[in-house]
Amino acid sequence: MADIVIDRLVKTYPGATARATDDISLTVADGEFLVLVGPSGCGKTTLLRMVAGLESPDSGTITIGGRDVTDLPARNRDLSMVFQSYAIFPHLRVRQNIGFGLSMRKVPKAEVERRVREAAEVLELTDYLDRYPAQLSGGQRQRVAVARAIVVNAGVLLMDEPLSNLDALLRLQFRAELKKIVRRVGATTLYVTHDQAEAMSLGDRVAVMRTGRIAQLGPPVEVYDRPSERFVGGFLGAPPMNFFPATVRVNGSGPQLRVGDQALAAPERLGGYDGQNILVGVRAENLEVVTSARDGWLAARVDVVEPTGAAVLLTVRLSGHELKVQAPAAFQAEPDTEVWLRPPAQSLRFYDPETGLVLAAA
Ligand code: ATP
Repeated sequence: MADIVIDRLVKTYPGATARATDDISLTVADGEFLVLVGPSGCGKTTLLRMVAGLESPDSGTITIGGRDVTDLPARNRDLSMVFQSYAIFPHLRVRQNIGFGLSMRKVPKAEVERRVREAAEVLELTDYLDRYPAQLSGGQRQRVAVARAIVVNAGVLLMDEPLSNLDALLRLQFRAELKKIVRRVGATTLYVTHDQAEAMSLGDRVAVMRTGRIAQLGPPVEVYDRPSERFVGGFLGAPPMNFFPATVRVNGSGPQLRVGDQALAAPERLGGYDGQNILVGVRAENLEVVTSARDGWLAARVDVVEPTGAAVLLTVRLSGHELKVQAPAAFQAEPDTEVWLRPPAQSLRFYDPETGLVLAAA
């Protein structure tokens, strides 16, 4: 068992006014792949470095596999790491680079060789074992760094932006490879990225961080579909979730959302919010769109039409608010024309406009 239990970790760097991690508690289950994602400076690297033993918390504890490692040096924590700067040794061949950690641990030579071959096979590096890093592409070097981390068979794998040095296409390819490799190795994995697509794609669960705290933690689809706060909906997704203000009005036919001078039927559960101003959240791909007026749909004006190949992305104005709408690829729309939108009730989310937190009824 190599579960990671992080309990109430607080860290403030000397001279800083804000906490880098502000009372974070988090459990990564044995064999789980958990991604820490969030904007620059939210504390994800600090959290990872504390788990690694490269930074000490001011308070709180970290246990790995039931053992309190809070005060143990990195080398005694049974973990391996991959960083953004993959830090492979330029003067060592791929073979020695991959085997480096094993040699350091005084593993017998024959066994090092066997395990290096195995890892090289998994990462498709067998043909490159005798090369120096300078003779490899960026993607191959990254694979060497991953091979070096997995070859030691540590219970815990920590990765900090390991794909960020790769160009966009390679990044996408290697992302899928990495997912396969980590599943095969079965290590408990904590992975840091600021790239929301990477987080969604890799994580069994995703922890979205904001200013030293975890804003939301859950399986990627849940966090994407049901953001617990406006910040999360705005951070995950390309385009981010749309938000627009509305007022709840309850009349004889049930609750309605007033959006400017238009009205939209609202779910019954909003009945308790009569007269209140709220923020409505909806994903671009959940908005239905047509080019002729329909009863109960919201009229909006098209600003920009962007074909993306798989779809058409529309930027529209709804009562003065900009929304992104993802229409089918064949959808015909022109700028400065009207379209009509219907957000299906089950895909609407409702937030408090002051706090940005999801409403109890949503
Ligand atoms: P990024 O994606 O930019 O790496 P991050 O989410 O990983 O950001 P951290 O690097 O953990 O964030 O930083 C959290 C906060 O702590 C930031 O405000 C940062 O400026 C501060 N910080 C990080 N390292 C140090 C340090 N060594 N000394 C002082 N402050 C630091």
